[in-house]
Amino acid sequence: MSLIVQKFGGSSVADAEGIKRVARRVADTRRAGNDVVVVVSAMGDTTDDLLDLAAEVTPNSGASRELDMLLTAGERISMAVLAMAVNAEEGVTAKSFTGSQAGMITDGIHGSARLVEVNPGRIRRALEEGDVAIVAGFQGMNRQTGDITTLGRGGSDTTAVALAAALDADVCEIYSDVDGVFTADPRVVPSAHKLDTITSEEMLEMAANGSKILHLRSVEYARRFNLKLHVRSSFSQLEGTVVIPENTEDFKPNNLKEIPLEQPLISGVAHDRSQAKVTVVGVPDVPGSAAQVFGLLNEANINLDMIVQNISTDRPNVTDISFTLPQDQGDKAVATLSLAKEKLGFEEIKYTEEIGKLSLVGAGMKANPGVSFKFFEALSNAGVNIQMISTSEIRISVITELEKLDEAVRAVHTAFELDTEGEATVYGGTGR
Ligand code: ASP
Ligand code: MG
Repeated sequence: MSLIVQKFGGSSVADAEGIKRVARRVADTRRAGNDVVVVVSAMGDTTDDLLDLAAEVTPNSGASRELDMLLTAGERISMAVLAMAVNAEEGVTAKSFTGSQAGMITDGIHGSARLVEVNPGRIRRALEEGDVAIVAGFQGMNRQTGDITTLGRGGSDTTAVALAAALDADVCEIYSDVDGVFTADPRVVPSAHKLDTITSEEMLEMAANGSKILHLRSVEYARRFNLKLHVRSSFSQLEGTVVIPENTEDFKPNNLKEIPLEQPLISGVAHDRSQAKVTVVGVPDVPGSAAQVFGLLNEANINLDMIVQNISTDRPNVTDISFTLPQDQGDKAVATLSLAKEKLGFEEIKYTEEIGKLSLVGAGMKANPGVSFKFFEALSNAGVNIQMISTSEIRISVITELEKLDEAVRAVHTAFELDTEGEATVYGGTGR
């Protein structure tokens, strides 16, 4: 008998039909003799709808106690309705639990709370009594304030992984509306193919660079606890993608010689449309300039991504500093820097809200110097202009014009021979 954690995303439980389909799957897993813990997201686009509702009431509801209270209602609907549907299945009983009932204790940062403790005592008891435990994803409670918190968009994955780690589960299955982790988003590249396995290291890069299939923090968490994740579709019975931490048995020395054969050079192309770019033009080229700029941005809690500094060739003693950041922090960053214009001594600030980020990810890149050439050649052939470049050991990223992004993703995907014949199936979801 195994302990299995199954997480179902919003598109898997979008309506009553979907909930019954998921209930059947959960019940089958239980009837096969396993202990089952289920984590659910809000139905369909509920979270977005609730956000729209809050914005209609006031423009200032962002990341607050009440917004978290509102958003967590979405997951509570799913958990209760799914528990009813599972109870209606022959020979299976279920009980639903909110995040706080399930022992998900967080810090007090509304909108992006971090787990500080996981105490699933009530979940263990439910399992001992033979019930399927159904837990509302994406939420927790802060012990100091007693307030309800949320873990950030997509946070149900992290709920599932944290519970799987705390309960020492045998498997953590993440169900969505596609068959697994693809070499690119099948909505942009229909010829993308599903990966059978991917290392956590690569998955981290994919998730950090725009792939929405898994919440970034869930991948970090799984890696830290050496937990394997199985990403698969709730609409089919196909095997999905197994995300393997580098230090588990599959990567122990006796297996090592087989890895290079199985390990493709490149595992995928990720893209991100949610960033913006700021250029601080004409900053004095003296020690301490960059420290001042980034010191101010740090105080304003701006999350920076790429940073590039270039000596201006036409003007002596000045330099331009460009960086990217989440679009919704653009106004704050520009305002913060503008206020310090005199102190920093720059000439002007340029802000570009519409940019695209494309990243090529693959562990095999480390040992293959040819990769960057092929990458830039593909972009050049597609007529894509590059605004910024950054790299890690297993990733190359570029910033492009937003309109060129999809074409750029397809060009790179093709250049690295990642295309397959058939079309990838996207079973549900609005892609919202
Ligand atoms: N319902 C939340 C969201 O849409 C959490 C999740 O689905 O993981 O972001
Ligand atoms: Mg998700």
